[in-house]
Amino acid sequence: MTNRKVLTIKAVAQALLDKGLLTQEQFTDVIVQGEARTARLQGQHPGYARRFAQSPVLPSPAEVISSFNLEIPGGNGRILTEDAITQVIAKAAGIPYLKIDPLKLDLEVVTSPIPRPFAMKHLIVPVAENGETITIAVADPFSVDEIESLLRLKKVNVERVLSSKSDILKILREFFGFRASILAAQNESAATVDLGNLEQFVRMKGHHDIDGSDRNIVNAVEFILTYAFDQRASDIHIEPKRDMSLIRFRMDGVLHNIHTIPKPLHLPIVSRIKMLSRMDLAEKRRPQDGRIKTNHGDREVELRVSTLPVAFGEKVVIRIFDPDILMKDLDGIGFYPREYQLYNGFIRKPNGIILVTGPTGSGKTTTLYSTLRTLSSPEVNVVTIEDPIEMVMEEFNQVGIQSGIGVTFGTILRNILRQDPDIIMVGEIRDRETAENAVQAALTGHLVLSTLHTNDAPSSVTRLLDLGVPPFLISSTVIGIVAQRLVRCICPLCKRERQLSGEEQAFLGLDARHTRVFYGDGCTACRGTGYRGRSGIFEVMDFTENLIARLGDEADTAELQEIALRDGMIPLRQVAVRKMLEGVTTYEEVIAVT
Ligand SMILES: [Zn+2]
Repeated sequence: MTNRKVLTIKAVAQALLDKGLLTQEQFTDVIVQGEARTARLQGQHPGYARRFAQSPVLPSPAEVISSFNLEIPGGNGRILTEDAITQVIAKAAGIPYLKIDPLKLDLEVVTSPIPRPFAMKHLIVPVAENGETITIAVADPFSVDEIESLLRLKKVNVERVLSSKSDILKILREFFGFRASILAAQNESAATVDLGNLEQFVRMKGHHDIDGSDRNIVNAVEFILTYAFDQRASDIHIEPKRDMSLIRFRMDGVLHNIHTIPKPLHLPIVSRIKMLSRMDLAEKRRPQDGRIKTNHGDREVELRVSTLPVAFGEKVVIRIFDPDILMKDLDGIGFYPREYQLYNGFIRKPNGIILVTGPTGSGKTTTLYSTLRTLSSPEVNVVTIEDPIEMVMEEFNQVGIQSGIGVTFGTILRNILRQDPDIIMVGEIRDRETAENAVQAALTGHLVLSTLHTNDAPSSVTRLLDLGVPPFLISSTVIGIVAQRLVRCICPLCKRERQLSGEEQAFLGLDARHTRVFYGDGCTACRGTGYRGRSGIFEVMDFTENLIARLGDEADTAELQEIALRDGMIPLRQVAVRKMLEGVTTYEEVIAVT
């Protein structure tokens, strides 16, 4: 290999500039800082590269330039991604570009023609086979000779396509890792035939260090978890069907099919997960709960595992609690400044009740945990009563409900008051006893945070009245009420602009000045959904003098709403519309959520 051409940052940046994907200024920045950036990226290889790459792979020009997160000139805030850069390189090199979809690849095609170390070293992946021709995705347009000579030995024709290095690495990891483990384990289990024995075998190994032949199951489970963390999934479902087992991830609130695994491997994989979460392996007929603490990079992640016997075996659901997702800085969960200031005022009060309301999955827990983290310090005694404990946090004293043996929110709350807490978080006020104890705690100098299952802030007052709390106790204890929802955010990589129709405008009561909105077209990054990530929207009701005065007169929900609005409360719908006009979310989300 002599005089092999090398793709430089400068050449790629020039091509991007020519295509109008970089401004002159961005171009200069890239050239000036390119080298330092390359060195920095080299120092912080993503975990998988460290773990799975045989040889250290240098950052490619596309990786380096995309790491600047540059905004495409005139692109409506779209970011110049590694994929976009790879497309430009492909065009310049005269090679077709391919965005690899892992779900469309065949394990045999990917893993058989080229040995893994060679594929890793040269960053190449066979993606299709058609008779005598094999299509190979390459990350470097100049990697021609070595690949062709290798395949000429096998007497096949080679067609090259260019794909991003990240995609190729992901596929190599995925296929040589997960699928190879699955295949190996399957061969193993076929030899054993008796699956009961295989499971027994896994369990016995559990008492010693895991090694040897069940390494494949261990690897497969690790791949599933790592992949879920990488995808920022909130739940993993492993569902036994008649002939196979289905692995699904919930991402941004929606379930996606990720893998199917051969049926004989369902049992050992479930056993491995049960073992990790310290469940009873022999128990297969009753639901069980467990926890796994693990890490993703340098962050600690908590997994809550539950099993449920269904028709074709045990179904496993793993909920992922990533502290970075569950507990954010309070100013990072989506509050607008006015609402943030109000809420921040509520939580700085020494005593009283703060309620967060909304349906299941509206982000209430994130708001409460984030609040507790903001307030907690060594001098402040924080106690939580939850059903069940969502995430174990050392700095809080957490108590779980066991309604089966009569340990309810109410009874625990009564006992906890003797332990002199400063701040009490009650998972949910759902009965009269809990409501009375919460009021009692607030009256005796504690700050109480809790949730209610109501749709908006004003109707929460009505709910408290229904639970038997008299108006004068509500007005003397409740500081403020927050109603919240989560809206899905538009994927920044496929964001497009459109105009609202007359009908849509009328529906939201918008005038002709507010017609420009955005949506996501759907791309591989967002799995065609057009959305990535979520943001909270908040309606904050302050207990003003006016409100308190009318409360005593037994005003109904509509009247309370009217007073709150007059005193400055901005309703959920209006907050959502603002997020839509700012291009954070879509018209459809606003309608669906509010
Ligand atoms: Zn997208």
